[in-house]
Parts: sequence; structure tokens; C-alpha cells
Amino acid sequence: MSNVLIVGGGASGLAAGIFAARGGHKVTIIEHKDKIGKKILATGNGKCNYTNLVQLPECYRSNDSTFPMKVLSVFGVHETIDFFRQLGIYPKERDGYVYPNSEQAASVVQVLEMELKRLKVNISLDVHVEHIQKVNNTFKLNTNKGDFTADKVILAAGGCASPNHGSDGSGYLLAKELGHKLVKPLPALVQLKSKEKYFKTLAGVRTEVYIQLFVNDRFAAEEKGELLIANYGVSGIPIFQLSRFAAKAINESKKVTLKIDFLPSLNWKETFDLITERMKINPKRTAEESMVGLFNNKLVFVMLKEAGIEPDLFCEKVNKKYITDLVNQIKEWKIPISETNSFEQAQVSAGGVNTAEITPTTMESKLVKGLYLTGELVDVDGTCGGYNLQWAWSTGAVAGMSL
Ligand SMILES: Cc1cc2nc3c(=O)[nH]c(=O)nc-3n(C[C@H](O)[C@H](O)[C@H](O)COP(=O)(O)OP(=O)(O)OC[C@H]3O[C@@H](n4cnc5c(N)ncnc54)[C@H](O)[C@@H]3O)c2cc1C
Repeated sequence: MSNVLIVGGGASGLAAGIFAARGGHKVTIIEHKDKIGKKILATGNGKCNYTNLVQLPECYRSNDSTFPMKVLSVFGVHETIDFFRQLGIYPKERDGYVYPNSEQAASVVQVLEMELKRLKVNISLDVHVEHIQKVNNTFKLNTNKGDFTADKVILAAGGCASPNHGSDGSGYLLAKELGHKLVKPLPALVQLKSKEKYFKTLAGVRTEVYIQLFVNDRFAAEEKGELLIANYGVSGIPIFQLSRFAAKAINESKKVTLKIDFLPSLNWKETFDLITERMKINPKRTAEESMVGLFNNKLVFVMLKEAGIEPDLFCEKVNKKYITDLVNQIKEWKIPISETNSFEQAQVSAGGVNTAEITPTTMESKLVKGLYLTGELVDVDGTCGGYNLQWAWSTGAVAGMSL
């Protein structure tokens, strides 16, 4: 049996620790924060959306799109639900999204801790791993609290999203030190920023929309859902889902534009008829007043201005050309995107250790025998909906079982 060191006490490191210890290995988890599982506590707005019953290749993104499913075929959603059920987490499912029935992310951390304790896994807190080398058959880890040695190492240090939860990007440096190459890490599941002045006025608006993302004026992706408008730009789940593509395009200095349909339940003609009808209700109402009750008032004002219509223009003066421009604005509002928000606000990192250097059925490095890489550190990111934690549990379990 091996002496195993796991760098990082996040989702993938904790899963790896349990499976390694169940296999009879002597396991120590090294964590530089004062507690394990800090990020898990923040997941799913404190409720922990720990997996999703719908598992399709498009739920995961990577330079090698076939890699994630190879890992998930070894340890996937059903194994994850069973694993947590045995530890005590009774699953609650909503539209495929799976949460603990307690609706407390803390329950997930608690059951992992209980199992690690039962298996006598050592946990070294407040220890920061600075360097790793492999000399002959032994790994040597330099930390702020002295040196550690191991037969095998699982690098589970996360990416660089949300660094206040511990993932400060140092895992990338450790992987590079051991010879691995990175696909450039970029923020994902993150808000998008725009320089348009009207965002100051629109801040706080929430509305159901259909959004298309264009890169260099070519359609790239689409989403539906609730848009949240902030003073810097746009947020909400559909924006998070599109953000990875936007981040990549911006990184390649490409033009990124969103086209938003603010009335997706009606087609263009139906919208035109609706607006025409509303303008006729009372010719002495202003254009702005005619839209009250259809859209949020802040949105109405900016929508009219952007369509070139003065909000206080009487409805009797709003001709067919104005209505056409307004409908175009409602159905095809174009927003130029300047950048994403930073890693501080991002939920995950896209990019990471190149999957071509890892065996998917074991998560062992192809470059360094006895080194395993798991979780967000690897070039795989999931969409919103429990996929990033699923990736962490799957890779952690596969590495822990394969030692
Ligand atoms: C606000 C928020 C909400 C989210 N909600 C969800 C959700 O509901 N569902 C979902 O699927 N995903 C969610 N995610 C994403 C998900 O939490 C992560 O993808 C997942 O936790 C990554 O697990 P990991 O083990 O790879 O890395 P991490 O959880 O980041 O763990 C890495 C650990 O390594 C430690 N570490 C790093 N470097 C060192 C070092 N040099 N020495 C010692 N220790 C080190 C860190 O302190 C950390 O504890 C959310 C993320 C955020 C930020």
C-alpha cells in the first residue's frame, strides 16, 4: 500500500481521499486554508447542486471534447448519488438538478468529513504546498510547514476561480513544475461587461429573454432564461452559460456581441401587432406610457431611446417606421461585450492541465508516474447545473480508486 499525499481539500481532493483510504492506502490531505471544503459551502447558493441527472457530452467543455465522458463512464452520476447516499445525503431532484434534501451544502462537507475521520485520513490544515519534485520513486513536497514525502501524489488544488475559497492558481504552477502544459485558464460561469452607458440606468432589471452570442458577427451559441442587468453589464444563468465562449473569443481579440430578444414568447410580427395596438389605446399617452406593464419601466425608457424614439412622444405621432425600429430593438437588442468579470467573480476556470497528458480512466499523469490530477485544475469545465462538482467527484473518485 502506498503513502499518498493529496494537495487540496476541495471537492475532488476529499473524494480522492475517501476512495484512496478505502483502498487501504495511507492518506494525508494537505490544505492551505483553515478548513476543508470551503468552496463546497458556497455552492448552489449554499444548497450545493452536487450533480445533475442529465449527463450529455455538451454539458462539459474541454479542448478534447471526448475526455470528460471517458472519465464519467468510470464514475458518473449514479455512482455519485449512491456514494453520497451511503454517506447520508438523501438526494432531492428538481428538473434534473440534484441537491441534498437538507438543502444545506454544509451537510455535504459534514458527511465527507465523517467518512474521512472513519477512514483515519490525516488532514493537515494551514499548510501551503510551494513545490513538488519527484526524485527517483519518491515525491518531495516543500511547504511553509516543512517537507513531506509520498509514493503517490494527487494534485487536487483547483483552478483560480473564486480564490477567496482557496484556489489561488498555485495548482497550475505545481503542475507546470512537474512538466505539464496548460490550456490558458480563463474565467467561466461569470458575468459579462459592456461599456454601454445605459447599464447605469438599467441596473437591477430582471427579465426572461432569449440570447444569442455572436463572435466576429457569426452566431456562436444561444441560451434562454432570466437575464439580470447590473451597472457593469449582464449576469444570470444564461449569461453564465455563454460566458465561456465569450471569454475565449475576447482572449483571441475577437469581437463579441450579444443579441437579446426581450419578448421571446412572441415572434416579430406578433410583437409588431402588439405594439401597434398599444400605441392606439390612447393617442394622448406618451410612447413611454404606452409600454407600462409590458416591460420593466427602466427597460422601456432605454429601449425607446435606443430605438430613436423620444419617450415623451405622443402615441399619435408614433408611426410605422418608429414601431418597426422599436420592435427591432425589442427582438434584436445588440450589446457589445468588452470583457468578462474577473476570476474573483467567476464560479469556475475554463482551461487548465492539458487532458492529452492524462489517462482518463485513472486520472494519472502520462508524464509523471504516480502523479494524479483532478477537478478544476484539469482542462474541463462544466455548464451550470451541478456539472463542475460532478467533474470534481468523478475525477477524485477515479484517481483515488486507481492508485
Ligand atoms: C460561488 C460558487 C458556486 C458554485 N456552485 C456550484 C454548484 O452549485 N454546482 C457545481 O457543480 N459547481 C459549483 N461551483 C463550482 C465547483 O464548486 C468547483 O468546480 C469545484 O468545487 C472544484 O473542485 P476542486 O476540488 O477541483 O477545487 P477546489 O474546490 O477549488 O479545491 C481546491 C482546494 O485546494 C486548496 N489549495 C489550492 N492550492 C493549494 C496549495 N498550493 N497548497 C495547499 N492547498 C491548496 C484550496 O484551498 C482548495 O481547498 C461553484 C463555484 C463557486 C465559486
